[in-house]
Amino acid sequence: MALPPDYHMHTHLCRHAEGRPVDMARAALAAGLTEIGLSDHNPMPHDDFDNWRMALAQLDEYWEDIERARAECPGLTIRAALEVDYLPGGEDWVRELAARRPWDYFIGSVHYLSDGWDIDNPQKLDRWRARDPWEVWEAYFERLTAAAASGLFEIIGHADLPKKFGFVPERDCTPLFTRFLGAAAAGGVAVEINTAGRRKECREMYPSPAFLALAARMGVPLAFGSDAHRPAEVGLDFAPAVAAARAAGYTHSLRFAGRAAVAAPLPA
Ligand code: ZN
Ligand code: FE
Ligand code: FE
Ligand code: ZN
Repeated sequence: MALPPDYHMHTHLCRHAEGRPVDMARAALAAGLTEIGLSDHNPMPHDDFDNWRMALAQLDEYWEDIERARAECPGLTIRAALEVDYLPGGEDWVRELAARRPWDYFIGSVHYLSDGWDIDNPQKLDRWRARDPWEVWEAYFERLTAAAASGLFEIIGHADLPKKFGFVPERDCTPLFTRFLGAAAAGGVAVEINTAGRRKECREMYPSPAFLALAARMGVPLAFGSDAHRPAEVGLDFAPAVAAARAAGYTHSLRFAGRAAVAAPLPA
């Protein structure tokens, strides 16, 4: 049975990744995948928001590149998506983006906390060092819970992202996870196993095994993503990711088309 779709990957348009959709698609075929989704970082209403996403005017190029990849790789199912930064108060912008193209799904991710700090940015480690990890994790999960409850997203990206650099609270974070997963379960929003964590300082996938087992127990659906920022990362570590899903108690993962989900069995 085929590996699950890789629904999280970026393109050169976001200015910190390499590869066009067709390059990612060819890499996916070489990795034995049958379905992928492009999910580059969403444009913002003002292009000076930060320096790690496409400009608004590049949305056409993004879409055309995806259509070109579909034409050049007919053996691969290619979904069109965005990884959208969830910012409280930014909901209308997400709806506006959603209306611009016939997207297959949106991944909602929290990178920014209230003071405009992108917590996964390696250039801002000083911010981590100046804070109590628990306070950061608590603020992050409050925002992630709001993202799950917003109705704007099919998938929540890298749910325990604050562990990336190893700043982990000593306190038990289970109550934070439970509240977030309750909102995800209520809205039918999936969490993703994001294998990129293995390539970061935390040295494990997002989310952790205990977090994932809790998600399975609470009935939260599942998707998979490599968070590839270059072609060689497409589908990376998907066999261990499927094993982790099974170990957590999952038997199915979701496929998306036209912002509707269908459950498909995991490979044995
Ligand atoms: Zn990125
Ligand atoms: Fe992200
Ligand atoms: Fe990403
Ligand atoms: Zn991401």
